[in-house]
Amino acid sequence: MGNWRDNLRKIQPYVPGEQPDLPDMIKLNTNENPYPPSPKVRKVLDRYREDMLRLYPDPASEKLTQAIARYNGVEREQVFVGVGSDDVLAIAFMTFFNSKQPILFPDITYSFYDVWAELFQIPYRQIPLDEDFRMVKEDYFGENGGLVIANPNAPTGVYQGIDALEEILRHNQDVVVIIDEAYVDFSQEGSAKDLVERYDNVLIVQTYSKSRSLAGMRIGHAIGSRDLIAAMNDVRFSFNSYPMTRLSTEVGVAAMEDEEYFRETCGKVVSAREWTKKELARLGFAFQDSMTNFVFATHETVPAQVIYEGLRAKHIFVRHFSTPRIENYLRISIGTDREMRRFVEETERIIEDYCGM
Ligand SMILES: *Cc1c(COP(=O)(O)O)cnc(C)c1O
Repeated sequence: MGNWRDNLRKIQPYVPGEQPDLPDMIKLNTNENPYPPSPKVRKVLDRYREDMLRLYPDPASEKLTQAIARYNGVEREQVFVGVGSDDVLAIAFMTFFNSKQPILFPDITYSFYDVWAELFQIPYRQIPLDEDFRMVKEDYFGENGGLVIANPNAPTGVYQGIDALEEILRHNQDVVVIIDEAYVDFSQEGSAKDLVERYDNVLIVQTYSKSRSLAGMRIGHAIGSRDLIAAMNDVRFSFNSYPMTRLSTEVGVAAMEDEEYFRETCGKVVSAREWTKKELARLGFAFQDSMTNFVFATHETVPAQVIYEGLRAKHIFVRHFSTPRIENYLRISIGTDREMRRFVEETERIIEDYCGM
């Protein structure tokens, strides 16, 4: 046997939530949107001529890039598009984090960050969040190789005010600061994208997977200064020159242009979230005030694992992480009103059974 194994890039991959496929399931485990994408997306699919698929797509996905630029009031050169925001984030890590200093991100956050750091051999340090899952901003003021901040954070749901982010930015002008806004459309205060006008080192990353119901299409984007975006494009085109499919470009434009539908579905998710919070509090759960399309909750008596298994037996899927500090929490994605009522009923039953009532 040869020794090729000695030279493998060994890596523990990120583990996404499972994708079960049961006809009666209620799927609240991967923060997908319970509503279909905009009817304008349906129209694109109905009219799509398969003959177009013979041809390579536009390498720069110009139509989509321009739609995103228009929507966000920035220049076309300030927009980067990718195959989901995971792709955008991975390219950003590769492009910007080449210092000997460690990059910093919270200990409880999107669990892909440490995987990319390992994959690209970037030194990193995970900074503990406080007891309420908030960032201690002074912890990010020292020398470092860059910052990654999910806002609102996942899986905690906590939103960090834009003032606090700006204060962190002011102390970090020699490195790139990535703000991952996967859930920002479900928050009241909204995006930190205006910081891009004043700081040429901040990169705002967003996705179509959650608020625009297109997780299956894989579309994400970043907004930043021209120099940041140009550097990312150089890396991008050094390993894949046609990242976006023709279809995803068309679908992305259609989804971005249906503002009314977007607002309506986000509104429905937010009101179901607020209802779910009230019910969870009634059932004895504690949680931070989530600004996302999920709630991250722990029960006062019943272990998270017990609730997780009990729900699973009823084909209701939520997410449980066996990670220190959060092993007694469940991350519950917000579904339709009906799905959330079922979830609450079954959870109440599990709690009653456990407490021997
Ligand atoms: C879902 C998610 C992403 C990735 O979304 P894509 O589907 O790859 O666009 C990125 N960051 C966070 C924090 C997420 O929760």
